[in-house]
Amino acid sequence: MPATAPPQPRSNGKHEVTLIPGDGVGPECVEATVRVIEAAGVGLDFERCEAGEAVFRKGVPSGVPRETLESVNRTHLVLKGPLGTPVGHGEKSANVTLRKLFETYANIRPVRELPGVKTPYSGRGIDLVVVRENVEDLYAGIEHMQTPGVAQCLKLISRKGCEKIARLAFEFARSEGRKNLACATKSNIMKLTEGELKRTFERVAKEYPDIESWHVIVDNCAHQLVKKPEQFDVIVTTNMNGDILSDLTSALIGGLGFAPSANLGNDVAIFEAVHGSAPKYAGKDCINPTAVLLSGVMMLRYLGEFEAAHKIEHAVLVTLEQNAKAGRGTGDVVGYGTPRTIGTRAYADAIIGNLGKRSEGWKVRDHREIRMPRISIAPEFVKAGKLRVIGIDLFVHSPLGPEEMGSSLEKALEGTALKLKMISNRGTKVYPPTGARTDNVDHHRCRMMAREDGADLSDEQVLAALAKVGAKHRWVHVEKLQEIDGAPGFTKAQGED
Ligand code: NAP
Repeated sequence: MPATAPPQPRSNGKHEVTLIPGDGVGPECVEATVRVIEAAGVGLDFERCEAGEAVFRKGVPSGVPRETLESVNRTHLVLKGPLGTPVGHGEKSANVTLRKLFETYANIRPVRELPGVKTPYSGRGIDLVVVRENVEDLYAGIEHMQTPGVAQCLKLISRKGCEKIARLAFEFARSEGRKNLACATKSNIMKLTEGELKRTFERVAKEYPDIESWHVIVDNCAHQLVKKPEQFDVIVTTNMNGDILSDLTSALIGGLGFAPSANLGNDVAIFEAVHGSAPKYAGKDCINPTAVLLSGVMMLRYLGEFEAAHKIEHAVLVTLEQNAKAGRGTGDVVGYGTPRTIGTRAYADAIIGNLGKRSEGWKVRDHREIRMPRISIAPEFVKAGKLRVIGIDLFVHSPLGPEEMGSSLEKALEGTALKLKMISNRGTKVYPPTGARTDNVDHHRCRMMAREDGADLSDEQVLAALAKVGAKHRWVHVEKLQEIDGAPGFTKAQGED
């Protein structure tokens, strides 16, 4: 199975790259990176484009203008600085927009111990990678206010998405000669969504006998990462878990200044640091550009420029070794504004000066081209052998308590094809009463099942029941309860039999 080819160089032998300097500290980090890459003699044509805060200010709600999208569609390759996002309100993240528009479904976040970057873990040889699913999960960003007081965010996990990320994680491990892959999920609680990744991972693992694979519950993974990080080699996980775990792993090796990443898709790849725009350091020539530079190194490897990537990584290691010896470093390593602090530009100059030198004490891994899983981009219509609608979950906005609500619904459903099975409040069964002491809110999930065993409810039957309930209560959302090939396609409430 051949890899989806990385973009080919143009007729002048140079690869074209969409370069987005970004916000806050982005332009300084990107400038340092471009200078080092150019000094290493790699033929790249950078096309400078905008995205982020300046674009939001111009009134483009996505933060990514048409010219930038056109450039990415042409180059298939992006090197970018961080983009600022309004927090908790307003526009969507321009970063997430870019990752999703180009279906860069895998976010690769490596961390390794570096010379002279002292942490409580120094000397333990941390060298691990988080492979984070990048476009699904809660980051699909599908949110609703179901009632004025209750918000919902849909956690969407697809079979196809799990297949892609699981396969890519194994291929990535192979490309770096790594031998151990852990899958971290919360499938003990979210059996359908997180469980889908666990099940897919375990199925795909059989095709990669050369890589030891195992599952770990994500909270224990966080615990183990702090306690014994050296036991991990590669970790594959869902989007939000990966976002959090990879910030944690960055901290293990000295912080976000040293954490690069790649967003890989079928035919577009976006390389950027894990960190954000760190606005308090913007324009002060004090930020550590290593994370963006190492993202550039990942880009070179993606392009097959292994020698240049090796050369730059060694130059970074040598520079860090020299800094450690001289007791100097970037602000995040030795403290900002001290006589020992070196600025962003001076640090990049030192790396350029060390191009061609090899670190004797620190190794650089051998890499080979990553074989991207070839999974069709055609929409997947997953067919079941037998699909049956056996009930509905109706979400109702009401000030009533569970018992009043329960008896009212039982009455309303008389003469329909549905009967009330239970009501839950934020996932815990409250009717029929269980003796639980829940703090009920005005958002009730009312589970109604077909009266007749073995029935496959028609839309007419569902709508008739909805009309009767709707005459008495304000319902806000309905979910069909389906049996898929004999197995329930829904989970039970806490306390439900
Ligand atoms: P942040 O920009 O990553 O900064 C958090 C802290 O991390 C900084 O205060 C600093 O820690 C440290 N840090 C970040 N970059 C560093 C570097 N290159 N060298 C050394 N230390 C570094 O996170 P944030 O403050 O939460 O987010 C700021 C903005 O960036 C937000 O608008 C957010 O949405 C956006 N963001 C963008 C991306 C992206 O473009 N991919 C990613 C994350 C966040 P100290 O304070 O301890 O020095």
